[in-house]
Amino acid sequence: MRVLVVEDETAMAESLRDGLVNEGFAVDVAGDGEEALWYASEAAYDAIILDLMLPKLNGFKVCRALRERDDWTPILMLTAKSGHLDEAEGLDTGADDYLTKPFAFVVLLARLRSLLRRKGTTRPVRLEAGDLVLDPVTHQVRRGEQVIDVTPREFSILEYLLTHSGEAISKQTLLDHVWDFEFDGGPNIVEVYVGSLRKKIDTPFDKTAIVTVRGAGYMLDPTGG
Ligand code: CA
Repeated sequence: MRVLVVEDETAMAESLRDGLVNEGFAVDVAGDGEEALWYASEAAYDAIILDLMLPKLNGFKVCRALRERDDWTPILMLTAKSGHLDEAEGLDTGADDYLTKPFAFVVLLARLRSLLRRKGTTRPVRLEAGDLVLDPVTHQVRRGEQVIDVTPREFSILEYLLTHSGEAISKQTLLDHVWDFEFDGGPNIVEVYVGSLRKKIDTPFDKTAIVTVRGAGYMLDPTGG
């Protein structure tokens, strides 16, 4: 099994390398994000141990860049930070598992072995309604071949509606799923965002993917409108 370790702290990188070599792994070490991408394009790794805080490109960006070029090597992300937000972001960019520093080497080894036992990583599915496509990995929205520029909030709204296409979704439900607890405004803000989303994904294409359901909210037309 060949593993790429991406870590800029030399002592940490060396101790990981030594530990893994002792366990019979072939190990390469990259010291920054760009180097990591280069190594990953030059060799077929069975897994990548990827530190989050890295020079040049951070771990999230490396992870996303790999997935964008359709590289689905299992990734174990290392970070000194902890918290659900980081974890969500890490998993969202396509990392397969997540380990918070400091950790015991045996724990890393167990997580790594468990990653390697899994039958490879599967690409999260693209959400589609007709020619309207949302890709959770690349964070891209398209109508046919045309890429549509949406804000992160608009992306989240569309993602929720597409996940529940054909169902009437209330403004309150969208508010609960797309806005955080800090937001203390009312459901009318949802109208504003849905309006701007329609101007991007529907109006220019003469379609109505987002249907207003009187008294109930919105429904995404599974045919794309
Ligand atoms: Ca680091």
